Amino acid sequence: MIVCKFGGTSVANAEQIKKVANIVKSNPERRIVAVSAPGKRSDDDIKVTDLLIDLANTALAGGNVEEKIQIVVARYREITDDLGLDLTMTEIITQDLRDRIAVDRSNIALFIDNIKASGEDNNAKLIANYFTSIGMPAKYVSPKEKLILNDAPERTFALQEAYVNLSELKNEEEIIIFPGFFGYTKEGVLRTFDRGGSDITGSILASAVGADLYENFTDVDCVFAANPKVVNDPVDIKEITYREMRELSYAGFSVFHDEALMPVYKQGIPVKIKNTNNPSAQGTLILPTRSQSNRPVTGIAADGGFSILYVSKYLMNREVGFGRKLLQIIEEENISYEHTPSGLDDISVIIRSDQLCAEKEARIVKRVKVELCADDVHFRNDLSMIVIVGEGMRHNTGLAARAASAISSTGANIEMINQGSSEVSLVFGVRSKFENQILKGLYQEFFAAIPSI
Ligand code: ASP
Repeated sequence: MIVCKFGGTSVANAEQIKKVANIVKSNPERRIVAVSAPGKRSDDDIKVTDLLIDLANTALAGGNVEEKIQIVVARYREITDDLGLDLTMTEIITQDLRDRIAVDRSNIALFIDNIKASGEDNNAKLIANYFTSIGMPAKYVSPKEKLILNDAPERTFALQEAYVNLSELKNEEEIIIFPGFFGYTKEGVLRTFDRGGSDITGSILASAVGADLYENFTDVDCVFAANPKVVNDPVDIKEITYREMRELSYAGFSVFHDEALMPVYKQGIPVKIKNTNNPSAQGTLILPTRSQSNRPVTGIAADGGFSILYVSKYLMNREVGFGRKLLQIIEEENISYEHTPSGLDDISVIIRSDQLCAEKEARIVKRVKVELCADDVHFRNDLSMIVIVGEGMRHNTGLAARAASAISSTGANIEMINQGSSEVSLVFGVRSKFENQILKGLYQEFFAAIPSI
């Protein structure tokens, strides 16, 4: 059995939804289909999820809600019209949005979640109708009382019982159309995953039914070894391990959500990234292990928006509990950290900058100085993390030296180096203004000479 997930651009309009139907029809193993909300039809278009967030914010600000509802409904009307579906569907969607606007607003985040989730929910209903109308019996299944999530405000994840409930879907006769991106708590409160979270729903479904394969359909033929918007014509990746993919999606490879790997990883279910617009392309296969290739590096990623908290204190290495106390201050500010490279007398804490503000930074600096009697404490902002990833890296010597020399030849100073204990990745912190140049330089160093993976 195959579980497939179709992303926003794959279900953005009637033409795309027809492609989805053909793909599902072409392989009877494709029994369960998770769908996103309609995404962008062109580069300058707006995703339905963003229209819905705008609608929710308009409602909270007391603005003209009806106007915003009509903008959302117009997207669905275009699709239903072009698919030749009954127009009562758009009336149902209009009423659904009005009902969602009318619910309790005491928890703003949950109010927004409920409206955001309607994008996938209504699209799933519409797609199930369409499949059935063309002779592919399909059934919309609601995540309610099935995809059970933890309570807010903790980061959203599926509880074990979700997997038990969803496992029953493998026995259904019809093709299951399941909305991505959201589930419900035990008390029936709707919560969404992070943006791009339909990937996570698909993975949970694949794991729950013990699928042979999880196919993730998007709008690119494969995962590339580097960002094609920066590096000219990068090589494609045919096979990649879960660990490699995790590291790359963490650092800016937006093809597949980094949290989506966990459910399938636990069961060893392979994931295939495929293109809805070119389904015969081979795609990229994500596996527990892969056959050795002729190159140590599989991919290079870069992501901006990082800050470093730098702390130094003479004889830090002798002070019992210094690291714990420092991280406790970070925790008390409700901040998660990415890496903590350290020396004898200094330690850096790498943090995503969107968790910081000037006030928070000043408070942390003051606390670390006073409570830990540190000599020097400061933040450095505008940093990018460059991540070099490859299972083959641990068997190769001199890689860090090659990478460092490629970086320094761009004129950039390396602010931080971190090698994960598994030796699958090597992370460099650099000023963001050098990011693209470095990516090109590293690609040249590790890929230009060996063209195929
Ligand atoms: N529609 C949601 C988003 O735009 C979730 C998804 O597409 O995966 O983030």
